[in-house]
Amino acid sequence: MAKLYFNYSTMNAGKSTLLLQASYNYNERGMETRLLTAQMDRRAGDARIGSRIGIGAPAETYDPQDDLFARIEGWIAEATIACVFVDEAQFLTDAQVWQLARAVDDLNVPVMCYGLRVDFRGKLFPGSAALLAWADEMREVRTICFCGRKATMVVRQDAEGRALTEGDQVQIGGNETYVSLCRTHWREATGDR
Ligand SMILES: [Zn+2]
Repeated sequence: MAKLYFNYSTMNAGKSTLLLQASYNYNERGMETRLLTAQMDRRAGDARIGSRIGIGAPAETYDPQDDLFARIEGWIAEATIACVFVDEAQFLTDAQVWQLARAVDDLNVPVMCYGLRVDFRGKLFPGSAALLAWADEMREVRTICFCGRKATMVVRQDAEGRALTEGDQVQIGGNETYVSLCRTHWREATGDR
């Protein structure tokens, strides 16, 4: 039986790298995959998933209005798809996560989602909340804080390196940078300690 997977972590843990590797493993065995990423994520250029270590692959994009069940159904009508990969899955809507779950159940295609668990305020992203609720399998992709402990939180910093505690959940194209920290150091950075 196909499953809905959620691989979650904080920023810069290498999620896209893992996604690309997993897809490559299918392709190497002659199996076709399809890659999806959020329309708003343009870091790697249009319709492409890129990783910090320099690898990348073409992808289709989705925006909040897209019906992902219909998209996958369309792919399956044309080819045998071994697995669907979704990057930036924190940006999925509730409805889209449900569409992916239906694709897994009714079309019998595995769907592997990769995304951030929490935003810079420590709040769950909507897509991640839905995936944490409904995924069949979950796996944490680990990265470390500067102190060596596991990083589970992220701070958004302004150009001067000050941690921001307010603002929109999603901010693309600004001068902010993100740093992954353990909870203790996140609390220190955001003035909770
Ligand atoms: Zn730390």
